[in-house]
Amino acid sequence: MKKPVYSKKSKIEGRGVFSSRDIKKDEEIIRYEGEKILKSEGDIRSEKQLKKGHLYIFGLNKKYDIDGNKNGNIAKYINHSCSPNCETVTYDNKEIWIVALKKIKQNEELTYNYKLTGDISIACKCGSSRCVKRI
Ligand SMILES: [Zn+2]
Repeated sequence: MKKPVYSKKSKIEGRGVFSSRDIKKDEEIIRYEGEKILKSEGDIRSEKQLKKGHLYIFGLNKKYDIDGNKNGNIAKYINHSCSPNCETVTYDNKEIWIVALKKIKQNEELTYNYKLTGDISIACKCGSSRCVKRI
């Protein structure tokens, strides 16, 4: 089935992902695809990507990360927001899906909270009134 999303320039940061039709609350929108790598490799790649101003490494489980920049899809362009309209759900420690937290209108930008942990600190430009200024 065709995914109800497309990507274009975002007001938040770089490219973003937008809905191509209305999306229902709890709808599974798109899977976060990419190369499955060990966390140690994920840490190295995170640092490299952050130097270029992106972060496409997504924690899958205790052992593995997913690198959306390799064999990934447009889910990697979804921006962080402090008051997002989507969340990520991991099924069986194997698949990460972007799921709608609420009803999303056509052409709205999709966002989720990256919930970054550890040493990574990126300034947030999400523009939300609840923004904590840090991703
Ligand atoms: Zn923010």
